[in-house]
Amino acid sequence: MDPTDRAELNTRLELLSDWLSLGCRRQRPEPVFRVPPPPETGSGKRRGPEWLDDPFYPETLENIQNEVLRCAKCRLALNRRCAAFGEGVLTPEVLVVGEGPGEEEDKQGRPFVGPAGKLLDKMLAAVDLDRGRNCYIANVVKCRPPMNRDPAPDEREACLPYLERQIRFLRPKAILALGRTAAQTLLKSERGVAALRGAFHDRRGVPVLVTYHPSAILRDETLKRPAWEDLKRLRAFLDGGTAP
Ligand code: SF4
Repeated sequence: MDPTDRAELNTRLELLSDWLSLGCRRQRPEPVFRVPPPPETGSGKRRGPEWLDDPFYPETLENIQNEVLRCAKCRLALNRRCAAFGEGVLTPEVLVVGEGPGEEEDKQGRPFVGPAGKLLDKMLAAVDLDRGRNCYIANVVKCRPPMNRDPAPDEREACLPYLERQIRFLRPKAILALGRTAAQTLLKSERGVAALRGAFHDRRGVPVLVTYHPSAILRDETLKRPAWEDLKRLRAFLDGGTAP
């Protein structure tokens, strides 16, 4: 084995060990691998990965997650430590959608695990919802925007297909959109949270309720009351009420 091959093999084994032990990549210098050119098709066009052409490629959450973990479709891939794909049960009553991972989420590769996540868990528990029992939690973008800035429109656009596939796979009874970015992206609207909350919106047959992001509530306690009203509205809908 030539020295370059040996160095690549060692790097790949280290990465594999990170993934097996931690579920994400340890902070290391960026690996550099020699990439073989993709094969040419008869028509002269380059082919994508085999599964892209396979009509029987099974759509599972795991497959979508594997794509996300390798994704470099936007600039947010450059600085991420771990993409936070999403977590929860596979048959959720509610899909909770936030904006994007923060510092702690980027470290752990899990959504809503920092202070805002703790508040979110409390908010959900107040209406008998729980990511371990009847909810799934995801974000519009799966990789952390630097300095916790808002994800740019092209970053949201690049990442949205993953969320669309999560929604299709999970088939939630309702979606709870947390904050402006999630609400505007899901509803293709320019309006703010204050204008969008208070009633369900139809998104291709799935009712969407908008409320304030837990980070906003941590900054401004006066948002607690309207957020509580929203959660009660969601609970009433799940208990058999209609989505007005
Ligand atoms: S944010 Fe989404 S589109 Fe951008 S690199 Fe991460 S997974 Fe890919």
